[in-house]
Parts: sequence; C-alpha cells; structure tokens
Amino acid sequence: MADIIKLLPDHVANQIAAGEVVQRPSSVVKELLENAIDAGATSIKLIVKEGGKNLIQVIDDGIGMSATDARLSFERHATSKIQKAEDLFNLNTKGFRGEALASIAAIAHVEMQTKPEQEEMATHLRIEGSEIKFQEVCIAPKGTSLSVKNLFFNIPARRNFLKSNQVEQRHIIDEFHRVALAHPGISFNFYNNGSELFNLPRTKQRQRIVHIFGSKTNEKLVPVNEETKVVRISGFINKPKFAKKSRGEQFFFVNNRFIKSPYLHHAVLSAFEGLIKSDSYPGYFLYLNVDPGSIDINIHPTKTEVKFDDEHTLYAILRSTVKHSLGQFNVIPALDFEQNQNLETPYDYKDRGALQPKVSVDSRFNPFLEVSQSSVGARTFKKQSTEGWKNLYVGLDSKVGKEDGFSSVKIESDTITGSIFEGQQESLETLATTFQLRRKYIVTTIKSGMVVIDQSRAHQRILYEQFLKNITVNEAVSQQLLFPLSLSFSNSDIDVLKEIKDSLTTIGFMFSKVDAEEVKITGVPLMIAESEVGMVLDQLISDFQMEVTEDSFSQTDVLAKTLAKTLSVKTGEVLNNASQIALVNDLFACKETMVSPFNKPVYVTITENDIDKKFI
Ligand code: ADP
Ligand code: MG
Repeated sequence: MADIIKLLPDHVANQIAAGEVVQRPSSVVKELLENAIDAGATSIKLIVKEGGKNLIQVIDDGIGMSATDARLSFERHATSKIQKAEDLFNLNTKGFRGEALASIAAIAHVEMQTKPEQEEMATHLRIEGSEIKFQEVCIAPKGTSLSVKNLFFNIPARRNFLKSNQVEQRHIIDEFHRVALAHPGISFNFYNNGSELFNLPRTKQRQRIVHIFGSKTNEKLVPVNEETKVVRISGFINKPKFAKKSRGEQFFFVNNRFIKSPYLHHAVLSAFEGLIKSDSYPGYFLYLNVDPGSIDINIHPTKTEVKFDDEHTLYAILRSTVKHSLGQFNVIPALDFEQNQNLETPYDYKDRGALQPKVSVDSRFNPFLEVSQSSVGARTFKKQSTEGWKNLYVGLDSKVGKEDGFSSVKIESDTITGSIFEGQQESLETLATTFQLRRKYIVTTIKSGMVVIDQSRAHQRILYEQFLKNITVNEAVSQQLLFPLSLSFSNSDIDVLKEIKDSLTTIGFMFSKVDAEEVKITGVPLMIAESEVGMVLDQLISDFQMEVTEDSFSQTDVLAKTLAKTLSVKTGEVLNNASQIALVNDLFACKETMVSPFNKPVYVTITENDIDKKFI
C-alpha cells in the first residue's frame, strides 16, 4: 500500500491551531493585550471597530522587536518567553506557547510596526492568511503596534458564527476589564468605533476598580489583605448589601492573571453565608499571589483555569480571610469608606491599629438587621406586585372598554381554559379552595381532578405576558418618584442601558439622565418597588449583555423575560390564600398557560382516573 500520511502544511496547521486560540474577536484582544504587557509596556491603547470584526489594534510602548524577531514572531512555537521545559514551572509572563500571533495571522489580515528602543528604524510587516505580503523599514516610535483586520476572512463558517457587533463588543469589554484590573500600574485607553470608552491612568488597585465600574463603586468596597506562606491575598470584596442577583463583578487574579475557579468562588460565597440572600452573589476583586512553581496554568488552552498544588489549603485561607474582612467591616461600621474622600490614599491595613481606639462603634448596628430588612422588603414587594397585576389589567381594560379585567382577558384564552376545565363553565372566580404545597406548588381542584401549579413559573408567565402587552399597547402605569433615584453604572453598562432605554420607558421607567456620571430615574413601573430598581436594572443589563438583540422584537422579549424572572414570586415564598387564588386566575387568563417564558412546564393535571389507578 502506498504511504498516505503527510505532514500538514504550516498554514493549515496554523488555521487548525487558530480554532483553539481564537474563538472570537475578544480572544484576539486578550492575546494582543497580554503580549503588550509581557513586552513591559507602561501604556497600552486598544482600538476596536465593529465588535472587533473589522479592526482590533493594540499599540504599546514596550520593548519592541528586531526585524528578525518581528518576522519570527508569526511562526508557530516561536516565543521569547520560555527556552526549556523547566521554564514552564516558573512562568512570570502571560504567554508562553508562541501560538497566538501565528494563529491570528492564519485567519486575518495582520499588520505590525515594531521598534526596540535602541534601534533607529522600525519594521513594518503585513501578513495575510499566514502569507507575508511585505516587510519594509519604516519610522515609528518605540514599541509595537499590531492591527488585526477582517477576522476569519478565509473561514466563512467561523465568521458567520460570530454574534452581533454589540455582543462581540461586550465580550471584548469583559476581556478588557480583566486585563485592566490585573494591571493597575499600566495606563489603558480603549477606543470603540471612534469614541473613547475607557481612559484609565496608572494607579492602584482600588482606584482602577472605581475608574472601570464607576465612582459609586468606591463605597461598596471592603479591603482584603492576608499574607501566609502559601499565598498572599489582596483586593476587595463588596459589602454584603451590594450583593447582586446576577453574577458579573467577580474577579480572581492569580499572579496577575484573570482566572475562573468555581472552587475558590465557593470559598468566597461560603464566607458570605448568612449575610446575603441565597440567590444573590457578592462582588469581589481578589488578587492571589502564589509561587509560580505551585500552579499549573497549562491545563486550558485559553488559560483561564489554573490548577493549584494545594487547593484545599487555599480554599480555607481564602474563606477565613474574606470572613475576617467582613467581620472587621461589620463590627466597625464607622470605618466606612464613604468617608474616605481621597481615592489616592490606599487603605492601609497596618495603620488601622493606631486608629482603632478613636473609632466609635455604632451600638445600633446589627449585622442581622440587614437580612431581616431585606426580607421585609420582599414581603411588601410581593403584595405590591399582586396589586400590580390587577392595576395593570384595569389599565388595559379601560382601553378596551370592559369593566372587568379578568373577563376581558379570559375571552382571548377561552380555548386553553377550555382544555383544562373541559368545557365546563366552571367560573375561575369560583374555583375550589387552593392549597400551597411546600412553598412551591399551588394545588387546586378542577372538575376532572386536580392541578398542581409551579408558583414561580406561573407567576413568570403572568408577568411576562403582562409586560409584553404593556410594551405593545404602550399603556404602562408608572409611579412617579418623589425623590429621583440616582444610580451609577460602569461605562459599558451605560452603553447597554442607552440601547434599551426606549423599551424601558414603554414599561413605565422614566429617566431624566442617562450618562456616565449618573443615571437619574424619576419614575418606575408600578410593579417594581423603588428598592428593587437597582437590582432589576443590574439583571437587565447583564441579560442584555449576553443576548443578541438587534431587532426590537427580541429586545422586547428579553426585557419581558428578565423582568418576569426577576420580579416573580420565588419557590420558598409563602402565598396567602388570596394571592394563591389570584395566581391561579391570572395564570389561566394567559394566552399560553402550559409553559413558562423559559419553556418549562407550568403545571400538571392529575385526573380522578389517575388517582383511581393508584388505588387498584
Ligand atoms: P507567546 O506570547 O506565547 O510567546 P505570541 O505568538 O503571542 O506567543 O508571541 C510570539 C513572540 O512575539 C513573543 O514571545 C514575543 O517575543 C513577541 N511579541 C509578540 N507581541 C509583542 C509585543 N507587543 N512586543 C514585543 N514583542 C512581542
Ligand atoms: Mg502571547
């Protein structure tokens, strides 16, 4: 038989490798930023156009490359960062595989200008699909500029697979956050579609966080500091009262590299136990420094996972360190960082000993108060929301000229109510008693047997349809706020908020200002308690960041779904009898009753027949 095995040509091998290294534009951003950092840059510019599909450019003032190195840097396994296998165990750089530039050049149009400090002339090089188009000498400042255009130009399938510009842009912003947070000592400028999205001067950790996430962040932060033989931990956790329903501001950095670690995340969560509600997440920015020899960052191609030699010890240290910081903060509430006007002053752990005797302990402070207060909040909210549904029905009815809300909506869903009530004219209002099972299900009888309704999903369905109607008929009821609410968001969150502002207005939000400094809210939908507004907007922003929402239809849909999810009654909540009956009535007045907005079954019916069979 003839020999059939051939070595793949380099450009094909590179394209295959690119599949692993470059998943989307944000992967390119990460690699280029990391290269700039490895090159010792003190100032880095990132320029992005159209979600990175058309242009990603990184300009640094690092060490640059000689003409030969510039050319070599695009070869696979070409790296200046390791020379022998042992080097792998003592890594202080971001990159080490020598794969990134080769991979990127295989699937895009790349242009590089680079000059080491001591050389007079710079090298200008263009490479497209692994093919060098030209290389010439040019004039350029010290450092490297690398631009990547037309990503995936030669792999249409991958290019088509990319999400909308907005979604890709959000991934890029996420990546940028991670790199910028890990390196407060480097200044960053980020230009997006021609306008400056971030201008981050060189600074310290705390101020970098504040620059990225907005000035209101400062008051949320509690410092964390610990030094042991195994690990040095620094950074900040958010005060428990700022915990969010959505995940997002959770950052671990190990040796200045962003990592994901469900295990360490759990350690932090467990330190917050009892201080935050079980369905919310604390924000944190934690910087861990360990001996590079004690970790393996090689287990994941995109390098966001790390394997630690002694994970259990790390878990225990992290948990107790966070607990300790929370304890300090709870016991000494007068040491509030709102009073710390000067952002420049880093919070100094050692100095605090001297200050302590002067600190007056707030005797009214009770760490458990916060928890009970918020649960009271939830209770009143629930009541409000029940009234809310009715009010909204009333609002709609007056429009269609019916005097009774329920009957008017019922007409539209006749077929569905028919199917469950088997054509019986059994009025919904005269339903038999309802019963709540394990704070989770509402059980009620129908002619043919019984229905078991998932309370949370049913409420989601009701709210979802309600919000959709509100948006389409534009009849939302809004409650004016006596004192406008002032909230602050990060630049990228503001972008999202601006995008969805019109839709939010249709459901009853009123904004008097939406910009980087401040978001001012003068009215909120009737169904949302004032105290819940921040949480609801956070959830909306984080959901929109993950969804493709170019057309207004899908935007409306995401909006309605998120609000339904956030505001619905949850499993575990006790519903009184009136609320139970209202829930059942409202559910069966919906257009679709069988599934929740997230396509989960809402109820099951158990017929007399089913029950009879059990008794045979
Ligand atoms: P790695 O970073 O894993 O070494 P890359 O493909 O990202 O691999 O880069 C290859 C080499 O090119 C690097 O090792 C470095 O020597 C050089 N290089 C890449 N980007 C820069 C830059 N911005 N400044 C200086 N040198 C760079
Ligand atoms: Mg690299």
